Amino acid sequence: ALAALDDASLLRQQGLINGEWVGGETRFPVNDPATGQLLAEVSRLGAAEAESAIAAANAAWPAWRSKTAKERAAILMRWHQLMLRHADDLARIMTAEQGKPLAEARGEVVYGASFLEWFAEEGKRVYGETIPTTDNNKRYLVIKQAMGVCAAITPWNFPIAMITRKVAPALAAGCTVVIKPAEATPLSALAVAELAQRAGLPAGVLNVLTSDAQGSIEIGQVLCQSDVVRHLSFTGSTEVGRILMRQCAPTVKKLSLELGGNAPFIVFDDADLDAAVEGAMASKYRNAGQTCVCANRLYVQRGVYDAFVEKLSAKVVELKVGNGFEPGVNVGPLIDADAVAKVESHVADALAKGARLLAGGYRAEGLGSGQFYAPTLLADVKADMLCAREETFGPVAPVFCFDTEAEVIEAANATEFGLASYFYSRDIGRVFRVGEALEYGMVGVNTGLISTAEVPFGGVKQSGLGREGAHQGIDDYVEVKYLCLGDI
Ligand code: ADP
Repeated sequence: ALAALDDASLLRQQGLINGEWVGGETRFPVNDPATGQLLAEVSRLGAAEAESAIAAANAAWPAWRSKTAKERAAILMRWHQLMLRHADDLARIMTAEQGKPLAEARGEVVYGASFLEWFAEEGKRVYGETIPTTDNNKRYLVIKQAMGVCAAITPWNFPIAMITRKVAPALAAGCTVVIKPAEATPLSALAVAELAQRAGLPAGVLNVLTSDAQGSIEIGQVLCQSDVVRHLSFTGSTEVGRILMRQCAPTVKKLSLELGGNAPFIVFDDADLDAAVEGAMASKYRNAGQTCVCANRLYVQRGVYDAFVEKLSAKVVELKVGNGFEPGVNVGPLIDADAVAKVESHVADALAKGARLLAGGYRAEGLGSGQFYAPTLLADVKADMLCAREETFGPVAPVFCFDTEAEVIEAANATEFGLASYFYSRDIGRVFRVGEALEYGMVGVNTGLISTAEVPFGGVKQSGLGREGAHQGIDDYVEVKYLCLGDI
């Protein structure tokens, strides 16, 4: 797959520190999850390189923050254009290492690039304020300033967008960044960093530390312990989020955390059923169910339960599973063998406790790596099943039946997570009641797709801290400073 790139120099296999590509003493393998084949061997960096990257980012900071927002925006816009120009190659690299279908990968490249455009513009609008004085000899001013060196630790499910969503606001605000991409998907991160270099980002402003799982832990410790690093942004599991939060306590670091979800998807009796089925398909099976905003629990009101389940199962069996490079494939491989095992255990648990299997329910055998799981639909799912409590992160839709609005709100909120939620209703009163009652950072009403650069993405409860995207997305990367002017 990677032999067919239009621009082979996008395939970087070393880390980036202070504008130089840096090899480590050893390398780690990056495999294609669809075939199991080795794609590349990437530099395995560690604590020493993390220290150098932090030092480089700190040295680059004064010149970068002294540029005007407009000058920084010009570089971000060039980077944005380069990403779009090389979208096909970036998509190929992503499909090769991550597995998602090529069309979805291309969609992520465009979505990922959109954060550069959005924050290039937002960077120009980091307004301060003046506060009416209560003392005629004084004036009160508030300004916002770049925080300093920021660290970003990113996951494999959106190998490009989770990087640009953090890096774009940081750079636009005048911060410099050290990124530690996921060990499964470093090639997408490095290709994007190569384009940043071509766009004219000064040396040290953006640094990338590649490593395997063990090396990532080591690098994470250095980033968290450093008192030069002022901010850590992380997207990944709640479990790792808690570890990082603890590691950041000694330096009282500012944190942006985008952690796990357990999204409810509610269909009321008065919903447009076809629209709800379409929304459920998009929300559930995108990226083979490996997104933190994927519908994880489908609650359907009794009056439309049978009809909904029938319509949904007709769509689920039409999905084509296979290598993401094959035309017409909708569901690619899962990221690794553990992911497949988790899906299998959730399905087995549900079936053992009485759920009804309407589609899938097995590993799609005979396909390459063996990491494929058939799109699955389970009906009559109950609250005591594993898939009701944990994020499945795979192509499994568990459907629950409910009777009343109050009952479903209680069930939907009965989780420590609070990222995305969805519901379908055409009753305007219900839309407001339910929209306000769901304890989630994001609510999709009559839609299964909610992410875009212009809106605040983030969770409540144990799904995280802070918001990414929108004008709020830049707040995490600036400090508010109050200036009191006396002797007026
Ligand atoms: P996922 O469940 O999406 O695989 P993880 O939370 O395991 O997410 O990983 C997301 C990112 O966090 C990856 O870049 C991974 O290397 C990194 N990571 C995992 N564990 C640690 C840790 N203890 N310290 C620092 N980074 C970590």
